[in-house]
Amino acid sequence: MQETEEAKAVLSDRILSLAESQTIAMAKKARELAAKGYDVINLSFGEPDFQTPQYIKDAAKKAIDEGFTFYTPVPGYPELRQEIAKKFKRDNNLDFAPDQIVVSTGAKQSIANAVMCLVNPGDEVIIFSPYWVSYEEIVKLAEGVPVPVMGRLENDYKVTAEQLEKAITSNTKLVMYSSPSNPTGAVFDEEELLAIARVLEKHPQIHIIADEIYEYINFGGKHHSMASFDFIRERVITINGFSKGYAMTGWRVGYMAASREIASACEKMQSQITSGTSSISQKAATAALQGGNASALEMTEAYRRRRDLVLNLMNDIPGFKTYLPSGAFYIFPDVSEYFGKQYEGKTIESALDLSMFILSDANVAVVSGEAFGAPQCIRFSFATSDEKLTEALRRIKESLAKLQ
Ligand code: PMP
Ligand code: GLU
Repeated sequence: MQETEEAKAVLSDRILSLAESQTIAMAKKARELAAKGYDVINLSFGEPDFQTPQYIKDAAKKAIDEGFTFYTPVPGYPELRQEIAKKFKRDNNLDFAPDQIVVSTGAKQSIANAVMCLVNPGDEVIIFSPYWVSYEEIVKLAEGVPVPVMGRLENDYKVTAEQLEKAITSNTKLVMYSSPSNPTGAVFDEEELLAIARVLEKHPQIHIIADEIYEYINFGGKHHSMASFDFIRERVITINGFSKGYAMTGWRVGYMAASREIASACEKMQSQITSGTSSISQKAATAALQGGNASALEMTEAYRRRRDLVLNLMNDIPGFKTYLPSGAFYIFPDVSEYFGKQYEGKTIESALDLSMFILSDANVAVVSGEAFGAPQCIRFSFATSDEKLTEALRRIKESLAKLQ
């Protein structure tokens, strides 16, 4: 998004220095091209291609008919917070009281609430990198200083406890990560998380945002929550939501669980910005949890199959360095071997150039790694049909072969 000179004269420094979300920008570009008649395959957006399960839709219709059309309590209906507390016990063996839970208009808002409530200007926020696009910009909005710490491809892009320890300073206020990760699909196992927790134990001024929104989309083993370690639990803000596991992106329901102090601070923040999220969506989310997670696990089986399909096809593309994503629905190959190659007199200098080439030549939309803190990579979402994935990778392979 390019601001005009007129806009620059009017808009705040805050918004002028904020980057547009690249995942959303690329999806917009793909939609525009499709509207012009191009046969675009969109692998840019991180969104389940499944419909929300019927029993959840039915609960929303019932909510309308029963008159749930009024403002909701800011932190969510008591019944929904109760169901979320039960979910934490059932899935994560965590004991949260309903008043430690704040329901928001998406996990994105829960993250923004927590960062705004914890970060003072100049505070350092360690972000495990590659990271989800919005983390860095939300930290900047809070006038914090993002400190990305890069995981290595050899370790499936997972940041180690040693790397974290080296990055901590007396100004570190917060650590943020997602597991399963967007954009890499990496999942921390219990041992890795424990090692990280042990480092954080030594620094009582540091809080931790554990973004677990892809919890159910896990192809390997069990999901582990940072909040399960008693010795740092008070300092962990657990983020989760309905968008991914229950295929409910448009309903806008996410939540966080934390200490009472942090939860009530987030409630105060939300009370001044958005109030409680939609009554109808909350009723749907309550029904989603009451129905258990069978539908989520069924969708995960489809993602696992697609992960295998994509990985196979990608391993056949020269110059794509891959690894095995253990969760979420993304793969994030290193494509730097293509930097310096040319097509029709134009040189590919970056992942952004390469993703633009892929969009224009193969009509496949992907997101370049710069926005995730990894300028050598490109993100592919495999939350789409086998046919589209197969065709997209066929086209990409053909296009890349033209680069000299
Ligand atoms: N965290 C991560 C890692 C995500 O990928 C997303 C996807 N949008 C979110 C948070 C926000 O999800 P929501 O739709 O609940 O705002
Ligand atoms: N989380 C998704 C993604 O990474 C949705 C887009 C967004 O909210 O940024 O593509």
